[in-house]
This record gives sequence, structure tokens and C-alpha cells, in this order.
Amino acid sequence: MRPENAKTDRALFIDRDGTLIIDKVYLADPAGVELFPGVAEGLQRARELGYRLFLFTNQSGIGRGYHTIEATHRVNARMEELLGLPRPIFDEICIAPEAPGQPSLYRKPSPRFIHEMVAKYALAPGRCFMVGDAASDLGAALGGGIQPIAVRTGKVDPLKLPEVAEHHIPVFENFAAFAKTLG
Ligand SMILES: [Mg+2]
Repeated sequence: MRPENAKTDRALFIDRDGTLIIDKVYLADPAGVELFPGVAEGLQRARELGYRLFLFTNQSGIGRGYHTIEATHRVNARMEELLGLPRPIFDEICIAPEAPGQPSLYRKPSPRFIHEMVAKYALAPGRCFMVGDAASDLGAALGGGIQPIAVRTGKVDPLKLPEVAEHHIPVFENFAAFAKTLG
């Protein structure tokens, strides 16, 4: 693992539901968290390679009033517990609480969080990735000027998304398969 004070300009921005854990839709119960196979090893490999890790998750269940942001914090904490890696696992976590149609600051495909982290941590956008299962993840990556990566562990097969073909976005079976390609 990288030393605490090591400087690094590379990063992974990572979606949660359908990318790191099974997408249960409006997940509010920590008992429902299920990691995909190989996720912990993939995150560990990225850390060892010097990537900063940012969790970037749309949680419209908060804006819709289905659950609280505290419930999302508990779900995230359970995920980190299951990952079993030294903490903090993520340099920062962005929870976008807005429902579709509400005024949106951080809700993907808004790239605002990516822009802010690039500035704050002096990241090199050409050495950063956004990994996700949905069109909104890919849109945030494109808007943020970083490399989009699609995974096939969500509700929609990204191979059917027009932006994947249009922007020649790499598609992987899962997060673990992508992490193995990191150099
Ligand atoms: Mg997702």
C-alpha cells in the first residue's frame, strides 16, 4: 500500500450499486449489502498501484424520501466492513441525494464531484477513470474529462448503450476484470 504521505495524481471514481455491490434499488438496510466477487482484491490492487479511490454514488432514494442519508452512510459502512481493507478505503465519498427532476448539483451525469476532486487533489485527468454500470456514470466521466469504464454487473447491459459505441468506451464483465488491467 502507498505510504500515507505519498503524492499521487491518478484515481478511480467508482459507482456503488451495480458496480461494487449488487444493485438492490433504494438500498437502505446494511444487511442487504452484497459485494461482487473480486471487488476487495481489485480495490486493493488499485491502492497498491497508487490510485486514489473515490466513491461516487447517486442515491435518489434520499431525495424521493424513501430513506435517509444516514441509512446510506450505514450501507456504505457495511460495504467497507465487508471489503475488509485498511480504512479509509476511499479518499472521499460523494453521495448525490437528488431525485431526478430536482435541482441537481452532484447527481451523475453531473461531473461536478470529479471536477472538484481533480482540483483538490491535483489529479491528472488523463490518469483517472470513472467505473460504473449506468449511462449516468459514463456521462459523468465524459463531462469530467476522465476515462469512462463500463461494467456489466448492473441492470442494463452497457453494450446496448449508444454512448459506449459512440465514445469507444471499454466494457468489462465486472469491476474485478477491469482492476486486473490497471498498470
Ligand atoms: Mg450503478
